[in-house]
Amino acid sequence: MSCVDKCTCTYTSCGRWGKCCECVAYHKDKKQLPACYFSKEAEKTYDRSIENYIRTT
Ligand code: SF4
Repeated sequence: MSCVDKCTCTYTSCGRWGKCCECVAYHKDKKQLPACYFSKEAEKTYDRSIENYIRTT
C-alpha cells in the first residue's frame, strides 16, 4: 500500500497530494494538520487549522 492509496484529502489537484512528507511539512509549517486528521465532513471545508480539528473531533 502506498501513500496515494491512503490519502483522504479531496483536494486532489494539490501538488503535495499523496506525498505525505511534503504534505505534513507544509501544514506543520503553517501550524496546521493534514487532511487525514479530519473527519470526512470537516475535511471538505479545507480548513486545516488545529482549532477546526478540535472543534470537529
Ligand atoms: S492535506 Fe493539504 S498539502 Fe496535503 S494534499 Fe491536501 S491540500 Fe495538499
